[in-house]
Amino acid sequence: MTSQPREPTSAIDWSQPLGFKYRHPRSHIKYVWTKETGWDNGKLLSNHTITMDIASTSLHYGQACFEGMKAFRMKDGKIRIFRPDLNAQRLLQSCKAASMECPPTELFLEALQRVVSDNLDHVPPTDSAGSLYIRPFVVGSGPQLGLSPSPEFSFIILVNAVGPYYVGGLGSPVKALIADSLDRAAPHGTGNVKVSGNYAPVFAATAAANAKGFAVNLFLDPQTHSKVEEFATSNFAGLKRAADGKPIYVTPRSESILKGVTNRSCAELASRHLGWHVERRDVPWSEVKEFEEVVATGTAVVMTAIGEIHREVKTPGKRVKKNSNTSSGAYYDWDLDEEEEVDAKLEMEVVKFDKEPVEFKKLYSAVIELQKGILPGWEAYGWMWPQEGL
Ligand SMILES: *Cc1c(COP(=O)(O)O)cnc(C)c1O
Repeated sequence: MTSQPREPTSAIDWSQPLGFKYRHPRSHIKYVWTKETGWDNGKLLSNHTITMDIASTSLHYGQACFEGMKAFRMKDGKIRIFRPDLNAQRLLQSCKAASMECPPTELFLEALQRVVSDNLDHVPPTDSAGSLYIRPFVVGSGPQLGLSPSPEFSFIILVNAVGPYYVGGLGSPVKALIADSLDRAAPHGTGNVKVSGNYAPVFAATAAANAKGFAVNLFLDPQTHSKVEEFATSNFAGLKRAADGKPIYVTPRSESILKGVTNRSCAELASRHLGWHVERRDVPWSEVKEFEEVVATGTAVVMTAIGEIHREVKTPGKRVKKNSNTSSGAYYDWDLDEEEEVDAKLEMEVVKFDKEPVEFKKLYSAVIELQKGILPGWEAYGWMWPQEGL
């Protein structure tokens, strides 16, 4: 058991919005694996060593993957983590995809318990909208020049008190922009796992979308650009009505979508708690205008209401030589042979969801209440870990 304080620390003003800024928790935890020793016993390290830890892991050839989850101070005064078993499984899949050694589930859960127990006073109060964000990651950390897996791996878990990612939550719907000029995932690639390499190429597209007033990018299937996949860091869910008037939770099924714990939990709770229908299937872009409500789901936000989705529809132009002043012709000139597209036409297609997301708000409340232990019968789901609490 921990000897650290468990009541919310006075070092943080819990009455102010927490946002997602770094709050200097007491510690992070680090485990190291080598072929000779296997995983070591792990150490809780004070937070000023974290920059050093990250700096020692620079040339890893993309052998890096991560997870995200949250711990809550629940109504019974205990602290529990939302469905970490699913994150442990997903980390195994991510590590496998990048030829990395992965902490087994028991070690993952032990590490979680140790680092959260050491930072109980950084878990926001029950009546705040905040939680303790937990960011496990594994990275190749051995000296490795040749293109092969690292001889050493580090498994680190950072924790940090956070508020809702987008302040306003479901109340203020955001605009999304379809990213047609970038695929976040390849058809048979690594889109279904949380490997770091999936994220760096998306940062620029997100920044460009933000600059045009869009909060998020929505990606279509990389093969045909005709079916909805997901947002850059959250899954897609739309709401339709069945003939009996009941809501249907519709979410895409695809091999290149990240298997979100939030999306899965929303679908399961929609069915089990609210009696909705659930459909996990292809979602053609042309169907999106038929949805009454659309949300983005993920651990950080739970749900973000999407108010509008814009798509720049392009009519291709002609390809011409970039440089018209032709060479002497004496030999081949690569630079003079570059091409560019001219006279392409862009038209903006806009799909709007005018209504307030009333149905998704009910589902959102159910998720939040389950996470805080307010939803009657929350225990029966077995989603909050550990059962006895920290
Ligand atoms: C992490 C992530 C999600 C959301 O997953 P959760 O388990 O619900 O947090 C969705 N899409 C992408 C691309 C992600 O990286």
